[in-house]
Amino acid sequence: MAQNDYETMDVVLVGAGIMSATLAVLLKELDPAIKLEVLEMMESGAIESSNPWNNAGTGHAGLCELNYTPESADGSIDIKKSVTINTQFEESKQFWAYLVEKGRFGSPKSFINPVPHLSFVRGQKGIDYLKKRFQALTVHHAFADMEYTEDKATLAEWMPLMMPGRDPNEPIAATRVMAGTDVNFGNLTTHLLAHLGQQADAKVSCNQKVVGLKRSGQGWRVSVKDLQSGNNREIQAKFVFLGAGGAALPLLQMSGIPEGKGFGGFPVSGQWLRCDNPDVVKQHQAKVYSQAAVGSPPMSVPHLDTRVVDGKTSLLFGPYAGFTTKFLKRGSFLDLPLSIRFNNIAPMLAVARDNFDLTRYLVKEVLQSEAQRLETLRGFYPLAKAEDWSLEIAGQRVQIIKKDAKNGGILQFGTELVAAEDGSIAALLGASPGASVTVSIMLDLIQRCFGTQAKSEQWRSKLNEIFPAMGAVLASDAERYREVQSRSDALLQLEQTVSA
Ligand SMILES: Cc1cc2nc3c(=O)[nH]c(=O)nc-3n(C[C@H](O)[C@H](O)[C@H](O)COP(=O)(O)OP(=O)(O)OC[C@H]3O[C@@H](n4cnc5c(N)ncnc54)[C@H](O)[C@@H]3O)c2cc1C
Repeated sequence: MAQNDYETMDVVLVGAGIMSATLAVLLKELDPAIKLEVLEMMESGAIESSNPWNNAGTGHAGLCELNYTPESADGSIDIKKSVTINTQFEESKQFWAYLVEKGRFGSPKSFINPVPHLSFVRGQKGIDYLKKRFQALTVHHAFADMEYTEDKATLAEWMPLMMPGRDPNEPIAATRVMAGTDVNFGNLTTHLLAHLGQQADAKVSCNQKVVGLKRSGQGWRVSVKDLQSGNNREIQAKFVFLGAGGAALPLLQMSGIPEGKGFGGFPVSGQWLRCDNPDVVKQHQAKVYSQAAVGSPPMSVPHLDTRVVDGKTSLLFGPYAGFTTKFLKRGSFLDLPLSIRFNNIAPMLAVARDNFDLTRYLVKEVLQSEAQRLETLRGFYPLAKAEDWSLEIAGQRVQIIKKDAKNGGILQFGTELVAAEDGSIAALLGASPGASVTVSIMLDLIQRCFGTQAKSEQWRSKLNEIFPAMGAVLASDAERYREVQSRSDALLQLEQTVSA
């Protein structure tokens, strides 16, 4: 290749999952003149974690996830995380509602559907916690419509599949929020990529693997291999987003930016039980989340979910965790060993030393038999029959390992945006709460990496048009919250289908 034989782009996005697709569409809305390319190594977008069968499709809004509301040492319930995630999800909904209103984005029913969110506990300790959580949350306007019950008849109405066959003396309780959602993040990603493809100076290129990243002038030289022809090409980009899911870490390491030093990844795989039997499926219309077993990580919280994928409804139960050294479901077993560097070996060893509970939990999960998996399901659905359920492999989650002054290294279960000081490159690491809060993560990226443009009149007025109210306002202003939520719900056709 001749020395100057390269294309130039304002923005290159690596990976065609929900993260890159969202950022690319947002940037084109803010400045239609931006020239960008999304590079995906698979044959299409939304094949890895963003695929609907690789994630649980929960529109995380802090309504049912008990791990977002920990109990403090004094017995009080901390609702901060639930409020933050709830208002971030409302930011996502505003963006999707804006695109639907603009037209040419397809029916919202193809990617978001109303499904009530329930939290379910067994035993007196669980009940005491759930009652306190209910009292703490319902003080806040975002959770004012939450209902609580210990009454068996009401529980049978809320979760008809889960009550028959249960010991009538077992103490159980649940909360319900009718305004929960199931999101097909795969279809959403596909819509975003299609929307992008209709615009000038926006390309989505598949079978294109990013194999090199080097600083060049004010930006980056990106080396790309065409996996069909075997040809290589180079792109000179002013800004690069590493939205490569689990594979973002090796790309961040390839960039060599100092901000990326010391990070490691801990891959956790997952499995679900899936049921497509219509007689069973029709008896459950909810996402029911419970508590994780003591010592197990937050992503192990068991839940029985209604899933709406391509117009068909199924049930999903899990996740059951597993261990693999791959960073992507279709990745390589060498991913983990090849990510070990001089600068991250100490944090990785510290995490191995300090997380014995996690290791024990993973070993137990990996060794689980089919009968044991079914037994766990029967804690939710006592009459479950093995023949109605099949085992499916979920997506990979690569949890973040990072340096920590006190312990040498810590394992982090959230997401982290790592950006170069000059804002020319950013990578998204981690997995949770994930796709639901993509829009807020990308708004943060825009402030950090496109700070000057974000202050311009053009970008500010567009942001105000797309987002009638941002998270902080939604968290503190009840009236504005209700106005904005009603508007998004109407545009996204989130009418509640199950009567209270
Ligand atoms: C088991 C499980 C359950 C989950 N449940 C939920 C849930 O209920 N709700 C929720 O909101 N979130 C959930 N998540 C999280 C959510 O799925 C992820 O946060 C989200 O899909 C990540 O999107 P992404 O675009 O970063 O990554 P991905 O969708 O994984 O996309 C990354 C893409 O980058 C490509 N790529 C990688 N390397 C390269 C390269 N070198 N060159 C070119 N392309 C490359 C990959 O092929 C892939 O297509 C769950 C995740 C898992 C694993």
